[in-house]
Amino acid sequence: MTEFEKILNDLKNESSKCISCGFCDSVCPTYKSSGYDMAKTARGRAQTGLNVFREITLNDLSLNVSDTFYSCLDCHVCLQVCPTGVDAGKISDIVKAIISEKYKKLQKPEVNLIIENIKKYKSPVPLKKVSYEWLGHIKYGRSDTLLYTGLMYQLMPYTENMERMRKKLGNKLFHIMISMASVIPVFSRFGRPDKRMLDRTNNTLIHIVELLNKSGISFDVLGYNEPYPGTLLYDYGYINDFKDYITGVYNILKNYKKVITVDPHTYNILRYEYKKYIPDFNIDVYYYTDFLNKSMFTNSGKTVAFHDPCHFQGNTEYNGAINIISSVAKAVKPERNSNLTYCCGGPDELLYPDLSMNISKNRYNQLIEKSQNIITACPICSYSLSRNGNVNDLADFLVKCIK
Ligand code: SF4
Ligand code: SF4
Repeated sequence: MTEFEKILNDLKNESSKCISCGFCDSVCPTYKSSGYDMAKTARGRAQTGLNVFREITLNDLSLNVSDTFYSCLDCHVCLQVCPTGVDAGKISDIVKAIISEKYKKLQKPEVNLIIENIKKYKSPVPLKKVSYEWLGHIKYGRSDTLLYTGLMYQLMPYTENMERMRKKLGNKLFHIMISMASVIPVFSRFGRPDKRMLDRTNNTLIHIVELLNKSGISFDVLGYNEPYPGTLLYDYGYINDFKDYITGVYNILKNYKKVITVDPHTYNILRYEYKKYIPDFNIDVYYYTDFLNKSMFTNSGKTVAFHDPCHFQGNTEYNGAINIISSVAKAVKPERNSNLTYCCGGPDELLYPDLSMNISKNRYNQLIEKSQNIITACPICSYSLSRNGNVNDLADFLVKCIK
């Protein structure tokens, strides 16, 4: 059996588990937020997955199925309620891998550009000097511990800028510009990001460093040479490119015993996906709250609504962030929480901005019902939810609680 036949077989096996009971419909964020589009539920993805398998086996893939699978948030919430254990995130990952391997014509121009940029610049978007300003405000030095940002905070101002340009140009012109960016590199820079967003993300990174310093943790940083971890290569199904790319990143990271991450996506990809593809992976991976000394805080006396990032559920089941916030505030969770959390919509922001906005609105409304003080521990969640109103990053909140 060839590698491609194995992938097709996995697609058939996972998709055919669906018994069409519909339990997943009520929990899938893309279903409600797309105006109840059946193709955007776990069951729709399973049924379309089976159609993709049949088409490819019998003839060729003629259906345009990109939107069904690229819009899946990979939040795995459907898996929690599915009686037969259908993993719609896995089905979406398989179809994306098939598209990236054999049906590139079904690919979105944004995806092509991001993949090329990661390979060329070691970042989905080439970063400007202003994104590194936080480095000038911190103390670091030689250590066997690395503070690895994965560039996630730094990328948020560029995401916002792309969205602004899309609104200004309209979808058609925006896609022409994106397609040109693959051949004319200057277009891939997307103008200058907004100063307010740059300040906000630089400040959060400075606050994370301040929290670690005050907890007595010393560490090194990679500065201007820090590479992106390759998460979008994985998320968009470019598995062979991902394997090659992470070998280079790992060669840098393996100079350290411990790696401290600052966002759930990087934490998840290093801890779980890198290990799958790098057999001798030998680094201890942490999230920064693992190192914080709770005795340095005073209780804020506030009630806060905490948004669980999807990547602190599923694989990771990481409770460090909610534990630390509970030590400085009364943390209230919205109805959808823990392993049934509701995605912030951020993963759909680049490809499906309207759907992403609807998801984030729905989630924001669930949170604001509980408290005006909304807190999250992920740059993507923080950016996505704050399009609806004020949302605090965990580090920004914690710094204010230092005695
Ligand atoms: S992984 Fe999330 S977005 Fe995808 S089908 Fe399941 S619940 Fe819906
Ligand atoms: S809950 Fe599972 S079996 Fe039921 S419709 Fe959804 S994916 Fe299919």
